[in-house]
Amino acid sequence: MKRAIPVSDVVLGPLERAYANDALTEGAISGLFGKYISKFEDDFSRYSDCKHGVAVSSGTTALHLALVAMNPALKPGDEVLVSTLTNMATFFAVLYQGARPVPIDIEPDTLNLDPKLLEGKVTPRTRAILVVHLFGHPVDMDPVLEIARRHNLVVIEDCAEAHGATYNGKKVGSLGDVGCFSFYANKIITTGEGGMLTTSDRALADRAMSLRSLAFGDKNKFMHKDVGYNYRLTNLQAAIGCGQLSQIEDFIENKRRIARFYNERLGGLDLLELPKEKSYARNVYWMYHVVLKGRFADRRSEVLSRLREEGIETREGFIPYNMQELFVERGLTRPEECPVANSVALRSFYLPSSPRLRDGDLDYVASCVTKILGSA
Ligand SMILES: *Cc1c(COP(=O)(O)O)cnc(C)c1O
Repeated sequence: MKRAIPVSDVVLGPLERAYANDALTEGAISGLFGKYISKFEDDFSRYSDCKHGVAVSSGTTALHLALVAMNPALKPGDEVLVSTLTNMATFFAVLYQGARPVPIDIEPDTLNLDPKLLEGKVTPRTRAILVVHLFGHPVDMDPVLEIARRHNLVVIEDCAEAHGATYNGKKVGSLGDVGCFSFYANKIITTGEGGMLTTSDRALADRAMSLRSLAFGDKNKFMHKDVGYNYRLTNLQAAIGCGQLSQIEDFIENKRRIARFYNERLGGLDLLELPKEKSYARNVYWMYHVVLKGRFADRRSEVLSRLREEGIETREGFIPYNMQELFVERGLTRPEECPVANSVALRSFYLPSSPRLRDGDLDYVASCVTKILGSA
């Protein structure tokens, strides 16, 4: 090991400490009271071009709550079209409701769900489309929304990796019926653990607010309105979130600077496919995700171990739903169901993408990648 260059990092400023201390001083550390929860909801939903925000305990619970708060709630037997290449939390949320996720293969360039494949997967049981703005690049939403309108489907956006990304100038989280964000430690902004639903549908926001907090009664608190959940974000976490949100454009600009640097330095290598930014997109480059090609296409583990020897941390790309042994064994999917995702998954990894990385670090990473791919 020469030097340690991490894939990601938590960057906390003085405002996070000041707000968190304030919450501690007031003793407002739970998810039931304290001024930071509603401030974080108001500020983040406004930032995401939505009328309402509902803070929750994680990106996973945001996704689950969206599926319960849609009207009527997702139920066993229903089908949801889901982008196959994602963090499996996206699929778990559908399975929590006993519904059937139907994996949709990806576009080879953006790695997002391919809208052309949706129509052929719609059945009378289809209720929703769950898109994932992967690695910070927005999905091509117009064709998705058009199909949803024609078949009366709910559109849910998994925005866990794409805070602040835009599609034709509009923020992700405001494009479908509801957006689901994560504030896990490695996301664009963080509260340690946390999440948020964004929507401009007042009734959906009200149901989500109630269900995230045990669906307490209005007149008589302990006469519950529904089978609720405890998916609350704490005021202490929301305080950190408010501090993080004030810096979000700096974090994004840093991610974009890293992408520009790598694009420039690695663009000449014909053994590596680099992330894209379509004309409709503002990519926030959550992780700088690359795909090996040519004579390195089946040598990912060798490339990653040589980078590790140089002190460069990397991460293998996601394994698509259709290749998860758990679901193949249960007969829910077949490995060959999404061939494009399969081909990308085995060849992909991320380079260090921490906003803290200076040009010198990026230069070192780019030189090592070039050296490794230039040899053999
Ligand atoms: C991180 C992530 C999630 C899950 O969020 P948690 O806060 O870790 O529960 C869901 N979907 C995607 C695409 C993610 O990257």
